[in-house]
Amino acid sequence: MNDLTVTRQTFDEVMVPVFAPAPFVPDRGLGSRVWDTQGRDYIDFAGGIAVTALGHAHPELLKVLQEQGSKLWHIGNGYTNEPVLRLARRLENLTFADRAFFANSGAEANEAALKLARRVAFDRHGADKYEIISFTQSFHGRTFFTVSVGGQPKYSEGFGPVPAGIIHLPYNDLEAAKQAIGAKTCAVIVEPIQGEGGVIPADPAFLKGLREACDAHGALLIFDEVQTGVGRSGYFYAYQDTGVTPDILTTAKALGNGFPIGAMLTTNELAAYFKVGVHGTTYGGNPLGAAIADKVVELISDPKVLEGVRSRSVTLKGHLAKLDDRFGLFRQVRGKGLLIGAELNDAYKGRAKDFVAAAGQHGVIMLMAGPDVLRFVPSLIMPEDDMNEGFARLAKAFESVAGAKTEAASH
Ligand SMILES: *Cc1c(COP(=O)(O)O)cnc(C)c1O
Repeated sequence: MNDLTVTRQTFDEVMVPVFAPAPFVPDRGLGSRVWDTQGRDYIDFAGGIAVTALGHAHPELLKVLQEQGSKLWHIGNGYTNEPVLRLARRLENLTFADRAFFANSGAEANEAALKLARRVAFDRHGADKYEIISFTQSFHGRTFFTVSVGGQPKYSEGFGPVPAGIIHLPYNDLEAAKQAIGAKTCAVIVEPIQGEGGVIPADPAFLKGLREACDAHGALLIFDEVQTGVGRSGYFYAYQDTGVTPDILTTAKALGNGFPIGAMLTTNELAAYFKVGVHGTTYGGNPLGAAIADKVVELISDPKVLEGVRSRSVTLKGHLAKLDDRFGLFRQVRGKGLLIGAELNDAYKGRAKDFVAAAGQHGVIMLMAGPDVLRFVPSLIMPEDDMNEGFARLAKAFESVAGAKTEAASH
């Protein structure tokens, strides 16, 4: 077909059908608002899946995009560039890490982390120390290694034999982890708050226990902060509020505010095992992405912005409590900062999809985290008016799903 007129219908004709996008097509965004191709506006509680942490079309990011965009986009890793060096220095100053490896996504950052852990164990201890311990319901990306390590079998089944030496244990079960971590353990990988798995925070004692067990057995502790990182938890990285420091940390999503970039952060000692040529990437560390991420990190690491995340968290949970009073929807509201999950109660079990669809019809973009959990991951600087307006619209949307219940309750 030569006609280049496109609509939502075109998706079903030209795209590989791994996604089932909403019936409307977003066209532009500003801050926490998005407009679709029909000109309808939406309040954005999804932030492009925990990515646009400074909202859409942030003026300072736009300025960097335009300035760096007119200078140099890409040069390849046979050369370095100033933006990537500044970004690495800034991340070093903010964290435990001394060294950074840049990639283009969370999965690639995790791929680098897992390969580094395997290489460290191999070089230090030999071929028998290869086991990677991960947790059920965890999510680490969609490359074959990362879906195999992730704790949702539906994502790795049907693609042939998975890499060997991966063990899945129940999340927050320290006894099970202590039993499993031993001489063969190469690394433990854990999300400080499981995001895709349902917004489930780790118990501080669980993380502390993992740290101790890893130290006792010469295993590395990897924190996957792809979703929790870059201010999302109300701390620049979530580990900073746990009292536990990992050996390797992965970060992506909000790091580029929508420009694809990810990073693996680690110590001098461990980075030394990745010698020239041992790992690599074409696009990772390109000057355009790095310049944007550098500005994102500069803006979000401002203590006032992080404080703003913590106060918006309280406000958002207050709005959810009010919705719950009206409609009796939630079994539990949990999470930290602006990574909040509202688990539906038994009456609405499995129906998160219906709430998300109704929200869309009422001018709200939102997310689920599994079939039972509504997930809120808005801009970290969401204006109060937009949050109020978003919850006013959600009240109408949720009434359309839960209306029957309200009537029953009022009798
Ligand atoms: C989103 C996510 C990933 C995967 O990131 P991609 O950029 O989609 O590859 C990995 N880990 C966690 C915790 C995530 O939330």
